[in-house]
Amino acid sequence: MQKDLREAIKACLNTRTSVDSSASAVPERWVYSTCGYCATGCGMFIGVRDGKAVAVQGNPDYPVNKGHLCIKGLYEWKILHHPQRATTPMIRKDGVLVPATWEEALSLLVEKLQGNRQRSGPASIGFYHSGQLLLEEYYVLGKLAKGILGTPNIDASTRLCMAATVYGYIRSFGTDGPPGCYEDLDVADLVFIFGSNPAEMYPQLWRRIMVNRHKNGARLMVADPRATVPARVADLHLALRPGTNVPLLNALAHVLIKEGMVDHAYIAEHTTGYREFVQAVEKYPPEVAAALTGVPAEKIVEAARLFGRSPAVTTVFCQGVNQSVSAAETVTLINSLHLITGKIGKPGASPLSLTGQATTMSNRDVGGTAFLPGLRNPANPVHRQEVASVWGVDPGTIPAYTNDIMTMLEMIRRDELKFLWVMGTNPAVSLPDQAYTRKMLDKVFLVVQDIFYPMETAFYADIFLPAAQWGEKTGTYTNAERRVNVAYQAVKPPGQARADFDILVEVGRRLAGENLFPWRNTEEVFAEWKLLSRGRPNDMGGMTYRRLEKEGGLQWPCPAPGHPGTARLYAAGVFNTGGDFAQAYGPFNDSNGRARLWPVEYQPPPEIPDAEYPFWLNTGRVIEHFHTRTKTKRVPELHYAARDGFVEINPEDAKKLGITGGQKVRVVSRRGWIAVRAVIKDTVGPGQVFVPFHFGDLDPGEDHLKQAANHLTLGQVDPVSRQPMFKVAACRIEKVEEDH
Ligand code: SF4
Repeated sequence: MQKDLREAIKACLNTRTSVDSSASAVPERWVYSTCGYCATGCGMFIGVRDGKAVAVQGNPDYPVNKGHLCIKGLYEWKILHHPQRATTPMIRKDGVLVPATWEEALSLLVEKLQGNRQRSGPASIGFYHSGQLLLEEYYVLGKLAKGILGTPNIDASTRLCMAATVYGYIRSFGTDGPPGCYEDLDVADLVFIFGSNPAEMYPQLWRRIMVNRHKNGARLMVADPRATVPARVADLHLALRPGTNVPLLNALAHVLIKEGMVDHAYIAEHTTGYREFVQAVEKYPPEVAAALTGVPAEKIVEAARLFGRSPAVTTVFCQGVNQSVSAAETVTLINSLHLITGKIGKPGASPLSLTGQATTMSNRDVGGTAFLPGLRNPANPVHRQEVASVWGVDPGTIPAYTNDIMTMLEMIRRDELKFLWVMGTNPAVSLPDQAYTRKMLDKVFLVVQDIFYPMETAFYADIFLPAAQWGEKTGTYTNAERRVNVAYQAVKPPGQARADFDILVEVGRRLAGENLFPWRNTEEVFAEWKLLSRGRPNDMGGMTYRRLEKEGGLQWPCPAPGHPGTARLYAAGVFNTGGDFAQAYGPFNDSNGRARLWPVEYQPPPEIPDAEYPFWLNTGRVIEHFHTRTKTKRVPELHYAARDGFVEINPEDAKKLGITGGQKVRVVSRRGWIAVRAVIKDTVGPGQVFVPFHFGDLDPGEDHLKQAANHLTLGQVDPVSRQPMFKVAACRIEKVEEDH
């Protein structure tokens, strides 16, 4: 393990507070909050002095992290008063963004919205937002886009992160929602990490896994093409070839069934589709899967036995599943392993998706993207009617479908989508096939609403709106175990920056009047949202901001004031399938309270290495950075720990190519190239390379390198969830001269 990584991980385990050393005294007050980065959702307090944030402290009573914070959360206060915070609205004039008043910016924005809607219809308008806003802001945005403007074009960066999981849960269980909870990581006999690296991405969850391992002797199994830290310390590492999740999981099921390690009583009582499932996995004996995945057949058998014989198994999974081939179907296979063995809904036994961004789950809860509030399906007219009656709009306005961001880019290309409003995300770094993406951003009338300026996507903006961020507004966050927590405003936004809530409500009022956008604060929005959550799987009727603060968050469903929240879903083996309760619709909704086992066939990746592009390209994350570094590159402790992009190359390959560590190389795919430093290590296997995706081109870093990994990635998507396949592509490595 690298020394710096070891120290970073150690820091996550031991450090609980970071304070501005230049502050002359301790903070005057501590404000209850939750971390604004990842969906682990650590509880914290923000220390404030003289109206400024000067410290952050982990909340020792918060059940998720017990006071611990990782290095990102620890320095989060440093992004609040950074000199590059966006403080003034801007409008593009003569090709240049120039300062404007809010009145000028919002008048132009509303004029464009109305003009496009009248001339070209609601579908000429699009929204692409974030996993970083508040639950209440997603709710307002969903109403504005779907209920007022009536556009189907609304998506978020959550599409890049958890879309496949959402569709996988819906197909297996009838509705979205992680069945398990973090406590499962404390008590599982086996933690199976599939396509995830929690040591770097979810340090506080990794801490809990390691405590279980050391205290209780929990076993650890990892499926990952890379030899990550969890893979290196695991009892069993299944180093599968990229793009071969399906044959590996099918083979595990095959062995479980063949060796009698399934729970026939549970299958008979609580599932449907077993016969078809058995027929499908019949075709994947370990030897067949070994040839496809590269994992030896005996290791596959050993893995299946470890899974089958461990009384309680928790499978955690993330982008190695979600950003891959057949992603949503792979999620159903993980669910199916738990269903056929009856290892679900009990302590230590569940599938548990590790969601990426802080409020991705909030967005899913209130229908900020593909679905409607309360895990409702827009294709279901009953669901549209229920939502319209609370929103006070005509149900005919709400579209019966939605379009994802890749479809929206295609609509821009075809001149169908003319107005795109981007909030709190950075597609000019994060979307695949950057050459194409940037061309489309340049073509459309683009509104960018963000907390920092400059940032990459703002290069293409026609209107720029400065937004408030974490610590500057009050509202709720739902984490990856369905725990809802409140975060209070600690300091005022800088300059003229305004909360996304304020901006959206004002635009809503200008378009549809105050009657339809009556809320004065987010707590009033939360109260309205609770009406729509009533009786739904994610019922939050029993939650109030006060309760969330007092009780350390509450896990949905929490339907009544005295209800303690729900740690695990499906404990009684009753699933959300069938009838209008289900989020699934049409052919995916035939199971009447039983979970569905889906047969899944292996589809080879759309692009594989060949003579011209001989390496597998894998993209991912590092512990120091978050998403496209909009925030983390502005924290010196994080920036200087990981300033630039790099490519990991296996020592054997480096030797063959004559490349040494630290040398500048060009990584080239069919879509573009980047120039980064080589890191020679055996974390990647021969024939594979790894590039972190955080780095863009605007902030040039060392030697002005072009280093956005998404110049290389494929624009193709998983056909079910429309999530891009960031983790499978082919590339080659070229040496470049240092003065290039
Ligand atoms: Fe924040 Fe995630 Fe780190 Fe916790 S683990 S401090 S939520 S970034």
